[in-house]
Amino acid sequence: MPRASLHTLGCRLSQSETAMLADTLTRQGYRLVEFGKETDLLVLNTCSVTENAEKDCRYAVRKTLRHSPNAFVAVTGCYAQTGAAQLQSVPGIDLIVGTQYKMNLPEYLPAPDQLRKQPEPELRHSRTIDREDFVLPGTAYSDSTRALLKIQDGCDFMCSFCLIPFARGRERSRVAEDVLREARELAGHGYKELVLTGVNIGRYSHHGMELVDLIREIEAIPEVIRIRISSIEPTTVPPELLRHMAASTKLCRYLHIPLQSGDDHILQAMNRRYTVRDYEDLIDQAFRLMPDLGLGTDLMVGFPGEDEQAFANTRHTVDRLPFSYCHVFSYSSRPGTAATRLEHKIPAAVIRQRSKTLAELSRSKALAFYQRHIGRTESVLFEQGDRDGFRTGTTGNFTRVAVPAETVAAGSIHPVTITGVMDGLAYGHLAAPSAIHSRRPLL
Ligand code: SF4
Repeated sequence: MPRASLHTLGCRLSQSETAMLADTLTRQGYRLVEFGKETDLLVLNTCSVTENAEKDCRYAVRKTLRHSPNAFVAVTGCYAQTGAAQLQSVPGIDLIVGTQYKMNLPEYLPAPDQLRKQPEPELRHSRTIDREDFVLPGTAYSDSTRALLKIQDGCDFMCSFCLIPFARGRERSRVAEDVLREARELAGHGYKELVLTGVNIGRYSHHGMELVDLIREIEAIPEVIRIRISSIEPTTVPPELLRHMAASTKLCRYLHIPLQSGDDHILQAMNRRYTVRDYEDLIDQAFRLMPDLGLGTDLMVGFPGEDEQAFANTRHTVDRLPFSYCHVFSYSSRPGTAATRLEHKIPAAVIRQRSKTLAELSRSKALAFYQRHIGRTESVLFEQGDRDGFRTGTTGNFTRVAVPAETVAAGSIHPVTITGVMDGLAYGHLAAPSAIHSRRPLL
């Protein structure tokens, strides 16, 4: 049986696509092996968001060919779309597949017994990418207790720093029946949490069905226990979605809403579609309905023109808002994006210092969020593996909770009373279901 190893260098959406490709390859007779182990085929799903995409890709190819010199290497993903020309000069690559053809990659492979290194890579690539709603060829099984369910792709927003609209193309939604087909299969397979993923999932729209309608349909599947929304743009969260989240028995009270900057001039230069006030109003509405909401965000530091005042505005905005964590990114110029033409670039040392400041602020906000849970009893979905004798899992609002590993099994959901917080983790002990604080236990 030929072996296939798959590796993702990108985001959650790419991970769900890799899992889907793995499913197709398994059905074609491949045996999956862990990345880093000997293999006959390597599929690399790349990212183009950071400057290191090419370096990461070269490294992964070299690492694989060291232990498997004859492995056939196929590269796909965002960097295969935006950096196909550069990838053609990376030694050891046999096939490059752009975004348009990504999910058909298994069709372009030679028959498993014909896998051979090629003198030069074959290129399957088109500059333009379909706008049609789509179906996917399989089911994205993962080795986690939660499964990623792709519902959307592409983005029309054209933020001035972002390469994703070029790498993934215009907005399109997955056909609702196909989403429901996969949701049923994943839930039937035992996944306790489905995470809805896409590039701009708030823009989901298929034959009049919007995101909240799709969520209702998924909730109607009896085997589905928990649903979580991944990152969602602030301008795409309608009040109806917040009301539904507040009332639902299955949708986690959790939102990750990128803020990027707390300064209106910078937001405008980023071509973001909201002001700081708009963002604060949205968060205010959400917390009025769900005081226990878990709220994450992305912050970008060092965008061209971010002067001391603009950064101070971001710091104060972050300080004011009830975030439970912030992902802090440094701006890096991506060739082809509008922001590369902007003046007033910020020196790397200043960017480092600002990142550090926001990361510290994020840590103190996370601590305050966690401490608010002490004494509460919440239902926790436990994950694989243990950390120094503790098994960890997450609540609906994405608080990470640890209990002694021997007291719970991976993949189970239990009520836990939280007794303390240390090193970014809440600790607790198992409790009776009747003790759960949330109005809806998400069990
Ligand atoms: S919303 Fe902006 S940052 Fe997000 S994918 Fe679209 S263009 Fe990129």
